[in-house]
Amino acid sequence: MNNAELYIGMRKKMVQQLQQKFQYGREVLEAMNAVPRHLFIEKGMEHLAYEDKPLPIAAGQTISQPSTVALQTHLSGIKKWDKVLEIGTGCGYQTAVLAQLGARVYSIERQRELYLAAQKNLARMGYDKPLLFFGDGYKGLPQFAPFKAIIVTCGAQQLPQELLLQLEIGGRMVIPIGEEKQQQTLAVIERIGENEFNKTTHGKCSFVPMLEGTNK
Ligand code: SAH
Repeated sequence: MNNAELYIGMRKKMVQQLQQKFQYGREVLEAMNAVPRHLFIEKGMEHLAYEDKPLPIAAGQTISQPSTVALQTHLSGIKKWDKVLEIGTGCGYQTAVLAQLGARVYSIERQRELYLAAQKNLARMGYDKPLLFFGDGYKGLPQFAPFKAIIVTCGAQQLPQELLLQLEIGGRMVIPIGEEKQQQTLAVIERIGENEFNKTTHGKCSFVPMLEGTNK
């Protein structure tokens, strides 16, 4: 068995385990089964790619753990052709899962090193559609708004108001909110009217912090 086949087997097993954990939905699981997570992992750690764990990437950041990516994708309600904004591209794994679902993906990263790495990773795997931006996710992308969904993959202390206004009515933001790293709550904010929002919560989570500004 060569490496590629080995990884396909490991990925299948990961998806089976996810399936037993929660009803993420068939499309989400199929997308997770298609994206080669090991190609986003730092050299020497690829063998851990299909465990349900976050792993360190460049610039002191992490690649989200598979069940978190599945949950955020599920909660976003994203379908083919939907326009979605991701805050925190990291190495591009969640971006690839959204692209695999057929969404029109926009993603912002504040660490230049990661923005460049994600570009390389996604291009190498043939995901040439996602539009990646180097910048501060707190500002969003007003020039491309409104979005059907905004997935924030870093922990915000408070709800970023500028971003909320970039949701279309009926659209959803999936965001970890909390002061401390270990005490974030995963929230879904639905825009139900021009100035009306509805919030639901979906358990505790632990993300790297959402920081202001950019890091060259
Ligand atoms: N979506 C990634 C998660 C990477 S970790 C994945 O699939 O694995 C979260 C990322 O958010 C980090 O790379 C961090 O640099 C980035 N981040 C933090 N604050 C940000 C901000 N204000 N704007 C854009 N990116 C931000």
